[in-house]
Amino acid sequence: MSRTDQPKHRVVVIGSGFGGLFATKALRRADVEVTLIDRTTHHLFQPLLYQVATGILSEGEIAPPIRDVLRRQKNVRVVLGDVHDIDVAARTVTSTILDRTTVTPYDSLVVAAGSGQSYFGNDRFAEFAPGMKTIDDALELRGRIFGAYEMAEIETDPLALDAWLTFVVVGAGPTGVEMAGQIAELSRRTLKGNFRTFDPSTTRVVLLDAAGAVLGTFGDALSTHAQHELEDMGVEVQLGAKVVDVDAEGIEVEDVDGSRRRIEARTKIWAAGVAASPLGRMVAEQTGAELDRSGRVAVLPDLTLPEHPEISVIGDMMALDGLPGVSPVAIQGARHVARQIAARAKGEQTSTPFRYRDKGSMATISRFRAVASIGRLHLRGFIAWVAWLAVHLIYLTAFKNRFTALLHWAVSFVGRGRSERTSTWQQVSARTRLQRLEAGATGPRPGGSVRD
Ligand SMILES: Cc1cc2nc3c(=O)[nH]c(=O)nc-3n(C[C@H](O)[C@H](O)[C@H](O)COP(=O)(O)OP(=O)(O)OC[C@H]3O[C@@H](n4cnc5c(N)ncnc54)[C@H](O)[C@@H]3O)c2cc1C
Repeated sequence: MSRTDQPKHRVVVIGSGFGGLFATKALRRADVEVTLIDRTTHHLFQPLLYQVATGILSEGEIAPPIRDVLRRQKNVRVVLGDVHDIDVAARTVTSTILDRTTVTPYDSLVVAAGSGQSYFGNDRFAEFAPGMKTIDDALELRGRIFGAYEMAEIETDPLALDAWLTFVVVGAGPTGVEMAGQIAELSRRTLKGNFRTFDPSTTRVVLLDAAGAVLGTFGDALSTHAQHELEDMGVEVQLGAKVVDVDAEGIEVEDVDGSRRRIEARTKIWAAGVAASPLGRMVAEQTGAELDRSGRVAVLPDLTLPEHPEISVIGDMMALDGLPGVSPVAIQGARHVARQIAARAKGEQTSTPFRYRDKGSMATISRFRAVASIGRLHLRGFIAWVAWLAVHLIYLTAFKNRFTALLHWAVSFVGRGRSERTSTWQQVSARTRLQRLEAGATGPRPGGSVRD
């Protein structure tokens, strides 16, 4: 209770990603009680997941505990739980962890549950071509990538050896480019001298995309530059190539002329599509809001839902003016809704439209190579890479993480080592085994093609 004995305005925030965490932090001085619910215990810095997958950083460096990040913010309670119900009429959110179910009432709700990987209706690809959205995904990929080299060391059949040494990355957006660049660098630099029966620099890295350009959203000049840089590092870029099937041993591709071909590759990485959290559909069905093709919720200009000023949807889950699913959109949206909620808590009516300030986009290709598009400024090469490094360091959430991340970057970028190559059998196989168990117990999971 506040000093006036009025019950405090209760805010529930779903998700501790960029949207949820920044909204919560922006409410630190507001006279509200915040409950932040997430199904993980950490805030994940997704832009650096590929560095966990390729052994540069540890998972702890990009995923600090949420309750520690918020330890000084006394108006927040952090609750671990998977949200599976939002009751718009009753104004409650229901979450479950193990066998404990919690029902949390709200006066204002911020839905920031992000997006999952989309296989465009082909969920069966997921077993053989993991995506990269969570720490589990990155650790599984790390195990698969370094594990492929272990298998290559003991392989005696030359064709099978080629398949172990072929890595296919699907999707030539920033994540796919980063992964392809890192695997090329691993094979040419980091793994030098590590094996006796083959030369890791013979690794084949294929970057595939159904579209006609690498980093298509960066404009022609940077896109062409990125493609040349990748090819210079030995990455095979195959554009206009649509994936039509994936299995344990390889991948089948259809080219623009309609012809089909197969690439024998044991390791496939899916960096191609996203679909918003299924919680979007849940709130849309109850409020009449529309969904776009990726399942994102169409919000009003102030980021709330029609007839429901108490519900805001932000970050990767919101559809507004074609804004992309990137962290600045989530962070700025979060700060905007926090201001609105603080005003509502004081009894003020507000529906100020959200104004996005585009700060540009960046993608790394490998060590010392990146591209950045900031307004009319187009940077490439070392200077773009330094800009990328600075931005990511600033946004890494806790000081400790910045410090150790810098150390590990020095090890990998100045030297040729990687400090985090450890992986376990469980990390490689647990996801598919759990999914099989779950499917056996309950039948296929609802949710269409989304691996959320
Ligand atoms: C590999 C990768 C690289 C990227 N690189 C960049 C980049 O370089 N630059 C850039 O700007 N953006 C990048 N992005 C995009 C950026 O990370 C997202 O736009 C941003 O994270 C969106 O924030 P969000 O809060 O909407 O969702 P998220 O950050 O995804 O957070 C969602 C949170 O909700 C939780 N959650 C989901 N469902 C539930 C549930 N049912 N119950 C409870 N909790 C739930 C999740 O655990 C998670 O913590 C990248 C994304 C990925 C995956």
